[in-house]
Amino acid sequence: MTPSSATRLSDSVTFNSVSSIAAIGVQPMNHQVKYVLQESEMPRQWYNVIADLPSPPPPPLHPGTHEPVGPDDLAPLFPAALIAQEVSPDRHIAIPDEVVDVYRLWRPTPLFRARRLEQDLGTPARIYYKYEGVSPAGSHKPNTAVPQAYYNAAEGVTKLTTETGAGQWGSALAFACALFGLDLEVWMVRASYDQKPYRKLLMETYGATVHPSPSDLTSAGRAVLAEHPDSTGSLGIAISEAVEVAAGDPDARYALGSVLNHVLLHQTIIGEEAIKQFALAGDTPDVIVGCTGGGSNFGGLTFPFLREKLAGRMNPVIRAVEPAACPSFTRGVYAYDFGDTAGMTPLLKMHTLGHEFIPDPIHAGGLRYHGMSPLLSHIYELGLIEAVAKPQSECFAAGIRFARTEGIVPAPEPTHAVAACIEEALRCKETGEEKVILTALCGHGLLDLPAYGDYLSGELKDYELPEQAVEAALAGLPAGA
Ligand SMILES: *Cc1c(COP(=O)(O)O)cnc(C)c1O
Repeated sequence: MTPSSATRLSDSVTFNSVSSIAAIGVQPMNHQVKYVLQESEMPRQWYNVIADLPSPPPPPLHPGTHEPVGPDDLAPLFPAALIAQEVSPDRHIAIPDEVVDVYRLWRPTPLFRARRLEQDLGTPARIYYKYEGVSPAGSHKPNTAVPQAYYNAAEGVTKLTTETGAGQWGSALAFACALFGLDLEVWMVRASYDQKPYRKLLMETYGATVHPSPSDLTSAGRAVLAEHPDSTGSLGIAISEAVEVAAGDPDARYALGSVLNHVLLHQTIIGEEAIKQFALAGDTPDVIVGCTGGGSNFGGLTFPFLREKLAGRMNPVIRAVEPAACPSFTRGVYAYDFGDTAGMTPLLKMHTLGHEFIPDPIHAGGLRYHGMSPLLSHIYELGLIEAVAKPQSECFAAGIRFARTEGIVPAPEPTHAVAACIEEALRCKETGEEKVILTALCGHGLLDLPAYGDYLSGELKDYELPEQAVEAALAGLPAGA
């Protein structure tokens, strides 16, 4: 197939003859497009990148004393095993057999070579994507939901609380709680609760109870509603509500789907598998791009490659892609801030837009968080990764191009990664460089089709984020930490 015939696939909605369709779709490619591991090759350990960094990330601080928080401070919220993982210096942590057993339902996940996208772009670059949309919830989130539910159940907890934005984390945790016999109560950001009925139904199908946030069930929610009765909510508010309920119930704990060290740790199975699959492909990535909300799919894919980079075995550029409407890396500050809106969590040193920041309602709900993982923020400060921000229209255009070449409809979040892949591949087209690009396609978009509908009907808009809005949000950072 020639690049020119492939280009027609995307540029046109009109194929001018049957033979051009045949030229595109029927001619055998004679190239491998999928790298699969056997079940027995699934990694049995998570990788803790902290063990290999030149310095550890700054610790979370108690909001009152500004001293580092200890395990006792966190015990009302998390089980002991997860608290231990949060501060572990160990390079590897064994995956419990009970977790491996559940991972087997969809892991190892496939690594694809995006041959048709490459041809469509006419690029000499080789593009690979690690596809996490094959999980029951359709994203990478069950990689951490399952161990979190397991450790809580093993320590006698009977109920979890959590927040969810677009609903991917809530549905992943609902699935995991169903398997380990835990009750689950979810605070779902109001905007998504109204816009995404299917995610709510998926959570309920798995047995969870779902509340719109802000709700009148918590003092944090009531405080927001008193001031803004029509509040469409934010992840920060929903976290406050879920934390408040868990902290007040001795049998309940709270679960977070991103940001924290133990969450990124659990996601490293993505990168560990990808390294084995690159060995099968006989290739090495030069550029790794991934979307970042709180940083879990990005950290999960890239940390094992960062280990290889730090050891001098490969030298990929590692690039985070965030939404222009919620740019914590590229326009936030590196400071101690609360993880939630009401200021109930420990202070985390992270790239943040301020815990009072409420992002515009872009469709990539999973990327609408005011802060960034403290671990990734630290790694960014060390200069080991870079970051770019993209407007959602460019991302949806990339998502459509991906769907029309590779067949998978990406979730709105990973369209940011796909857009960065395409940008890099088109740069290679100009320079003639045969770079190897890797990304995580961390979820499918089959429950996000209304967002694609907005794009296709021309109703999708980009949000400019004025500097005053950033400055106003940053003015609310906690003093003195
Ligand atoms: C939750 C989610 C994200 C954002 O969270 P990260 O922790 O940054 O990965 C991105 N993509 C998908 C599909 C998600 O479900």
